[in-house]
Amino acid sequence: MTIQLLIGAPATGKTERCLARVQAAQAGLPLQQVWVLVPDRAQAAAFRRRLAEKGGALGVHVGRFADLYKHLLSARGKALATISLPLQNRLIREAIHAADVEKKLTHFAPIVHFPGLVTAMRDVIVELKRGLVNVEKFMLAAENGTAAQQEMGIIYARYQARLDALGYADDEDVHRQAMALLEEDKNAAGEIALLVVDGFDQFTPAQYQGLKLLSRQAQETLITLPGAMEGTRAAHQRFAESIAQIRDDLSPQAEELAGDPHLPKAIEYLEANLFEQAHGEAIFLNEPMLLEARSPEAEAREALRWIKGLVVRAGIPLVRCAIFTPNAEVYHPLLRATAEEFGMPVRFTSDDPLTDSALATAILNLLKLPLENFRTRKLMNVLRSPYFNFLLSDADIDTLEMISRAAQVVEGREQWDETWEMLKRAPGTQGLWMDDTRNVPELPREGEAEEYQVMMDGVLTMLTPPAGRANYGEWIDWTETRFQQLKLADQLESEAERSVMLAFREILRALLVSEAVAGAAAVDYGEFIAELESLVRAEGYRENTRRRQPALVVGRMEEARGVRYDAVALLGLAEGSFPAVERADPFLDEKLREALGLGSRLAREQGGLFYQAVTRADRHLLMTRPYLADDGEDMEPSTFWKAAALLLDQAAEPKIDSERLLALADAGSREEVLFHAVRQKSLPRQYGFLESRWHDLQQARDALLARRNSEADSPYEGNPVSLTSQLAARFGKKYGWSASRLETYGACPFFFYVNQALGLNAQEQPQVGLNAMKLGNMMHEILELTYMQAENYAVDNLMAVLRAQAAEVFARAPEHFGFRPSALWEAEQVQYLAVLEETVRAIEEGVEWEPYRFEQRFGINGEPPLRIDLGDETILLRGLVDRIDRRADGGLRIIDYKTGGSHLSKKDLEEGLRLQLPIYALAARDALGLGEPVEGFYWHIQGAKAGSLKLARFGTDAAYDILKLHLRRILEGIRAAQFTPQAPSGGCPDYCPAAQWCWKYESRGW
Ligand code: SF4
Repeated sequence: MTIQLLIGAPATGKTERCLARVQAAQAGLPLQQVWVLVPDRAQAAAFRRRLAEKGGALGVHVGRFADLYKHLLSARGKALATISLPLQNRLIREAIHAADVEKKLTHFAPIVHFPGLVTAMRDVIVELKRGLVNVEKFMLAAENGTAAQQEMGIIYARYQARLDALGYADDEDVHRQAMALLEEDKNAAGEIALLVVDGFDQFTPAQYQGLKLLSRQAQETLITLPGAMEGTRAAHQRFAESIAQIRDDLSPQAEELAGDPHLPKAIEYLEANLFEQAHGEAIFLNEPMLLEARSPEAEAREALRWIKGLVVRAGIPLVRCAIFTPNAEVYHPLLRATAEEFGMPVRFTSDDPLTDSALATAILNLLKLPLENFRTRKLMNVLRSPYFNFLLSDADIDTLEMISRAAQVVEGREQWDETWEMLKRAPGTQGLWMDDTRNVPELPREGEAEEYQVMMDGVLTMLTPPAGRANYGEWIDWTETRFQQLKLADQLESEAERSVMLAFREILRALLVSEAVAGAAAVDYGEFIAELESLVRAEGYRENTRRRQPALVVGRMEEARGVRYDAVALLGLAEGSFPAVERADPFLDEKLREALGLGSRLAREQGGLFYQAVTRADRHLLMTRPYLADDGEDMEPSTFWKAAALLLDQAAEPKIDSERLLALADAGSREEVLFHAVRQKSLPRQYGFLESRWHDLQQARDALLARRNSEADSPYEGNPVSLTSQLAARFGKKYGWSASRLETYGACPFFFYVNQALGLNAQEQPQVGLNAMKLGNMMHEILELTYMQAENYAVDNLMAVLRAQAAEVFARAPEHFGFRPSALWEAEQVQYLAVLEETVRAIEEGVEWEPYRFEQRFGINGEPPLRIDLGDETILLRGLVDRIDRRADGGLRIIDYKTGGSHLSKKDLEEGLRLQLPIYALAARDALGLGEPVEGFYWHIQGAKAGSLKLARFGTDAAYDILKLHLRRILEGIRAAQFTPQAPSGGCPDYCPAAQWCWKYESRGW
C-alpha cells in the first residue's frame, strides 16, 4: 500500500503524470482494477478523452467518489437502490407536509406550500450529509438553536426515516453505506491496484473521509493537488489546508513537480505573480486579455465572438474552449441567446431551471386552469398557446375573447353559461345606433351563439378534472390523456422543447415510482397539481442531443479546475459579482456550522478560485467586466480584475461601448454583420446574400428616423398619402358625422386614424362590475325614464319617480347592460341612487327652466340630420342630445350628461377638443326646429354640477363660428390623410387603441 501526493502549480503536468501512471499500471496487467476519481462528470469526460488520445487503457474506471462507492457496495452484494432527484424532492415535500399537518412547524408554517422550501431543505440535507452530519448529530446541535434549526431537524429526521423505511438511498447515503463497508471490511477496496485522485483542490469532509479509508486499502494511491509543498502564497491558500491535512493524516510520499508550467508567457506570469505583493513590471501582451464591456449582455457577446474568432481563424476546436461566469442566473441565458445567434453549440455544466422554459410554464398554466376557476385571461392565453391544439381557429378564439369582454366573463363555467343564456335571449343591438361613446360591440346571438357555446363547453369539459380523490397513477393518466387530446407532442419543434418534455415526463414517472414504493395515497386534483408544481419548480433540464456534439463548455467559476482548455473566457469581474459578496447561510448560520464542523460560508477563498480559473487556459485567456449596472450606475472593477490588470501591460485596454463600429470581418453572426453594416451605411459585395434583409433594415431605419420627426412623413407614422382618395371618398360630403368622431380627430389625429379609419378598438380586460361606459349608459337611462315618466317636474315628485325607475333599471341592469354584478352591487345601487337624487335636485334648482326633450335624436331613426353650411360644402351630422330644457320665452338650454370626472373648459372648445355643445345647439335649432338655444353645458352627474364651459358665457354665435372653423380644419385634415400623432394635453386616454404602441404616447400621470 503506497500513497503518493503530487503537488504542483497548474499546468506543470499533474494530470499528465496520472495518465502515464494509469497506462503503466494497465500495461502489464490489463485486468487489474484501476480507478480514477475526479470531482464531477465533466472532468471525468475530459480525463477519458485525454486517456483515449494517448492510446487508451482497457478497464480503467473514471468517475466520482459515488461511482466507486456504488461499485464497492455492489461487489459485496450490498447494492443500494438510489432515488432520482424528482423522487428525492417528493420525499422531502412529504416530510414537510407531514410535519406541518402534525403542527410541528411554526417558523416554516407560512411557507410550507412554497416549492422553494423543498429546494432549500434539499440543499441543507445534502450539505449536512456531505459534512458527515447525521440526523442525531444535527438534532443535538440544534437542540438549543433557533426554531428554524429545530424544524429543519424535524424535516431531516422525517425524510431520512422515510428513505430508510423504503429501503432507498440518496447519493449521500451511498457514501454512508460505503464508509460502513470500508470500516467493517478492511479489504473491501483491496482489489484496486491503482487509485488516482485528480482534479480536486479541496475535499468536503465526506470526500476526505472516503479518501482516507480508500487509500489505506487500495494497493497504490496517487493524489494530485495544486499549489506548493511549502509556501504561503495567498493564491495557494485554498489548497494549502488540504495538502497539510493529507501530509499529516496519510503520511504520503510527497513530491513537488519541478519546472515551469506549460503556459503561454503572459498566463505563466499571471500564475506566478497573482496576489503577490512583490512582483515585477507588467508584462507586455500581444493580444488583449482584459476587456471592459457595457453590460453582462455585451460581455457575453464579446466573449463568444472572441471564441468564434479563435475557432474560425486559429483552428482551435470548440470543445477546447470554455467560458466561466460567477453568476449562472445572469450570464447563462445571455450566453444561450447569443450562442444561438452565432450558431455555436454550447454545453452548460448545470441544468437550466425547468420553470425558465415557456413549455413548462404553459403546461402548468393549462393544468392549473380548473383550480383557478378558469380565469378568463389565463384561459385565453392557454387557448392561444402554440403548444396546445384545441381545434379552434384564431377567429373563433378572437370571438370567444370578445364575448368574454363584452359579457364580463371573469371566470368560471357558470359565468359562461349565463352569458350563453343572455345571448340567446337578448336581441341584437345591430341598427340601434346610440352614440359613438355609448355603442356596445355586436355579439353572436341565437344559433351563432350556440356554436360558440359548444366550443367553450368542449374546452371546459376537457380541462375539468373528475371530482373527488384519486391516486397519483390515475391523475397522471388523466394528465397524459389531456396531452394526447391537445396533440402536445406534435407541437414541439426544438430540441430544448423536447428535453423539457422529457424532464416533465421524468417527474410524472418519479411520482408513479414514489407511489409504487410508498403505497397509493388518494389525493384531490389540487393536491396532485401542488405536488407536481413543486417538483417542476425544483427541477432542471438539459438539451440532450447537444451533449453529443462538439460544444463550447459554459460553467460556473467554481467549476474552473481540473480540466484544461485552449481558450478560456472569465466573465463578470466586477465588484460584488466576483468575488461575490459573502453572506451567512440563512439556514445553517456560522455558529451552527462551526458546531457541526462544516466549512464557513464567509471564508470561501475566492482568490484561489480565480487563480484556478486563470490557469485553465493553455493558449488564450480573456477576462471581462461590465462597467455599467442595469440602473446606469458605474460598476467598479473587482479586486481580481485589478490584481490581474497590475500584471498585464495591454497597449490599449479594449473598452467596448455602444458607439463602437465593428469591422464586418469580426462579426459573430449575420445579425451583427447587418447591424454594423447599417451603421456604416454600406454592405460590401461579399455579403450580397444579406441583400434583402439589408433593405428591410434600411426601411426599419427610415421608420425610426421618421418617428423622430415632429411631422408624420410615412404611411406608418400617420401620413398615408396613398389613401387620400379613399379617405376623401369614405369621409366625403354624404358622410354622417357624429360629434365624438370629430372630437377624436381634434384630440389626436392619429387616434382618429387608427380608431375610425382603421377600425381598431382598445381592448379592456373583463372585470366584475360596471365599466365607465356601462355606468354612463345606466345613469343616462335612469334619468331619461325619470323625466319621461314624471307627470310634473316638482322635485318631490321627481324623487319618487326616480327611485321607482332606478329600482327597475337596477333590477335588469346586469342583463341589459351586460355586466357581472360585484359583491358590492347592492351597496353600489344605494350609492348610485344617492348620486342621481343629488344631481336631479341640483339641476332643478333654477325655476326658470322646464325639461322639454330627452334623448333627442337627430339624423337617426328618421329624424332629420343637422346640415351645417361650411361655404364650399354642407356637412351632415347626427347625434343624441341627452336633454333640452326650455324657458318661458322659448329659449333653449342644451344639457349633455357626463359621468366621468373630466373638467371641460372654454379652452376645450377653442381648441376643437369638445364640439358637442354648439353642434347640439345647432341641431335643436336648425335640424329639429325646437327654438333658439341660449344656454348649454356639460352636466357632471357625479359632481351634481355644470361644467365651466357654458354656451351663454362663451357666446352662442362665437361658439358656432369656432365650430365651423374646426369642422373645416378637421375635414381637410382627414381627407388629406394628415394624421400626425399629437398627444392630448393631460396625456393620452387609455381607450386610445394606439396607446400600446404609439411612439408619441404620453401617460396621464398621477
Ligand atoms: S397614444 Fe396618444 S399620441 Fe398616440 S395616437 Fe393615442 S392619443 Fe394620439
